[in-house]
Amino acid sequence: MPSLLKGSCHCERVTFEVQSHTPYAYMYCYCSICRVTNGSGGFGINIMGQTDTLKIKGEEYIKVFRAKRGTNKDGTVKYTTNERSYCTECASFLWAFDEAYAQWMYPFPSAIKSDLPQASQINHIFTDSKPSWVPLPVLGYKTPEGKGEELTDTQTGIKHRFYAEYPDEGIEQWHKRVGVFVE
Ligand SMILES: [Zn+2]
Ligand SMILES: [Zn+2]
Repeated sequence: MPSLLKGSCHCERVTFEVQSHTPYAYMYCYCSICRVTNGSGGFGINIMGQTDTLKIKGEEYIKVFRAKRGTNKDGTVKYTTNERSYCTECASFLWAFDEAYAQWMYPFPSAIKSDLPQASQINHIFTDSKPSWVPLPVLGYKTPEGKGEELTDTQTGIKHRFYAEYPDEGIEQWHKRVGVFVE
């Protein structure tokens, strides 16, 4: 049975629920989009739900944001295909969605009210974009050489992997490798 994730924006005009086989919030993204729009600790995170199970209330309050990503040949602005939904009343970001992966949607754990499990392994991605005021949780990693380099926090036992860019390993793959995929 997949996990049922229940979420909302802060003002609760938008509420939603979705089923997820992959509820672990293990991926901390320091890219320039996530760390600003997510407004959390210098990184942003998303998990993954099954789009066909998504139920939304308050859809009229949702607006979609697509970040700029360079320019087209004709000089017009190029936007990411990744759409970030947020509440127009309280500005909370809710989830990301990309037409190319329409089977899934990617809730931000900040909007999930259900108790999410804690990951025993954390992937830090786009560490090249990490602002200098944000400390990494373990010593020893030297950006930007890392491509999946792993360090263990000896006090918590949590394993941290560092990627200068986006890792090859997808969200489902990670859950299967760590042995926490919810059937
Ligand atoms: Zn709201
Ligand atoms: Zn990001």
